[in-house]
Amino acid sequence: MTQRSLFDDTDTNALTAVRIHPDFSSWQQRARQLLMDEVPPQRVLWQPDNTQKRATASSSVTAIRVPKSFLTQASAASCYRSDDRWALLYQLLWRLTHGEKHLMQLAGDRHVIQLRNYAKAVSRDVHKMKAFVRFRAVDIADGDQRYIAWFEPDHYIVEYAAGFFQRRFANMCWSILTPDCCAHWEGSGEVWFSEGADKASAPADDAVEDTWRCYYRSIFNPARVKIQAMMAEMPQKYWKNLPESRLIPELIRDADKRVAIMASDAKSSERLHCGPRPAAPAQVLNEAIQQSESGSIQQLALAAHNCRNCSLWQPATQTVFGEGPVPARIMLIGEQPGDNEDLAGKPFVGPAGELLNRALAAAGLRRQELYITNTVKHFKFRAKGRRRLHEPPQEEEINACAPWLAAEIEQVQPSIIICLGVTAAQAQLGTYVRVTRDRGKLFALQGRHYLVTVHPAYLLRRGESPQEFQRFVADLQVAAGQLNSLDIR
Ligand code: SF4
Repeated sequence: MTQRSLFDDTDTNALTAVRIHPDFSSWQQRARQLLMDEVPPQRVLWQPDNTQKRATASSSVTAIRVPKSFLTQASAASCYRSDDRWALLYQLLWRLTHGEKHLMQLAGDRHVIQLRNYAKAVSRDVHKMKAFVRFRAVDIADGDQRYIAWFEPDHYIVEYAAGFFQRRFANMCWSILTPDCCAHWEGSGEVWFSEGADKASAPADDAVEDTWRCYYRSIFNPARVKIQAMMAEMPQKYWKNLPESRLIPELIRDADKRVAIMASDAKSSERLHCGPRPAAPAQVLNEAIQQSESGSIQQLALAAHNCRNCSLWQPATQTVFGEGPVPARIMLIGEQPGDNEDLAGKPFVGPAGELLNRALAAAGLRRQELYITNTVKHFKFRAKGRRRLHEPPQEEEINACAPWLAAEIEQVQPSIIICLGVTAAQAQLGTYVRVTRDRGKLFALQGRHYLVTVHPAYLLRRGESPQEFQRFVADLQVAAGQLNSLDIR
C-alpha cells in the first residue's frame, strides 16, 4: 500500500518529505512539530528510514492533548507492516486537533476504521508471539546458558512486545531473533535491540525439546480435539518453530482410538469425575527431570510456562513459578499468585509479599536465601468490574498442579518447608492439619521438617495488627531456630 491510497487530495507539488526512524516516539516527535508549524497531512510525505536517529524526549515540543483511545491504538498501529501507517496516524491527529475532537467516536469513519484494523492486526500478532515463541538453551561461557528463540512476526512488533518477555522470563538471559529486529535481555537493566537476523543464527533444537514434546503429549486431550479451532488458534505457519508441532498429525490421527480407550477406562474407574485427565503428568515430569541436567529449575519453569493441565491458565496472565536459590535450606509455599504476582510473573511481590519480607527479616531469615513458591501456579480470580478478586483453588486444581510443586521440591531439596496458609499446609500434610491449632509447630515427615503458619494475606485482611504480626514472626522464628539446630548437629 502506498501513501496516496489514504488521501484523495494529495498535492504532489508541495510535499514536505519527513524522514523518521520507524518507531512511535520518533513519529510522535515529528508529528508534534508539524502540527505546531500547521503543516496539513496532504503536504507531508512520511519516509521511514532505519538509518535515522531515534527520537529522544524533548521538552522543547509542546504536548498535545488527544483521546487516550487514539494514543493506545496509534501506538499499536505504528507496528503495522505498511509504510502508510505514519500518514494515517498524522491524518487522524490532524483531524483530532482541528475541530474533530470526538473523531474517535465515529465508528464508521474510514480513517478510524483503518486505525482500528491496523491495531487489531498488531494485537493478534503480539498474541501469537506470546503463545508461540519457544526458547532453546544454548551453552555459553563458564557453564552458563542463554535462551534463544526464532520467530517470524507479521508486523514490526518485537519492541512493542518485548516488555512481556522481560517480565515473564526475568530470571533468564535470552534473545528473540526475527528477520526485522532482535530483542535481548541480560537478566537485568533494559531490553536492548539489534538488527534482524537469519533463521540460521537460532538453534533448531536443544535438550529441553523432548521435555516439551513429552509434556505436550501428556496434556493433549483427544476427547476435545476441534481441528478447525486448533488450526485457527495455532496456524500452520508457526508449526515449524514449535517442538510439539511434530506430534500434532500423529495425535490427531490417533485421537479416536485414544478416546475409545479412555471411555472404557472410565467405566471401570469411579474416580474419573472431572473429564479425561492426562494419564500421568507426574510420571512425564519425572522422566523429563531425569533426562535433564541437574540444577535445571529453569527448564522446569520453562515447561510450566505452557502448562494447560487445568483451566486456570486461561484467564490468568502467566504461570508464576517459584523463585530462589537451588538448592535452598528453607522453602516457603503459599497458596497461589495474586493479582500483582500474576502481572509480574514472580511470587510474593504484592502487599502480602512486602509483609512477608518484613516478617522474614524480623525472624532473622534472608529472603534471597529462601526458595519461594505457591501450591498452584496460576492466579484464580473472579472478575468484578475492573477488579480481579481472589478465589481459592479447588482440590482438582491443586491436584493438577501438584506435579510442578513436587518437581520443585525435588530440585530444591529443602530441610524445612514453611507452609503459608491452609491450602499449602493441607496440600503438604493432609487435611487433618488446622492452621489455627497447629501454627508454629514443626512436623517431621519423610526426613524433612514442615512448619505451618498463616498466609501473609490473612494478616492484611485483619488490618495487620502488631500482635498478629509478632505471632507470625514468632512462627517463622521456629523455622530459623530449627535451621540453627540442624547446623549445630
Ligand atoms: S494452575 Fe498449575 S496445573 Fe493448572 S494450568 Fe496452571 S500450572 Fe498448570
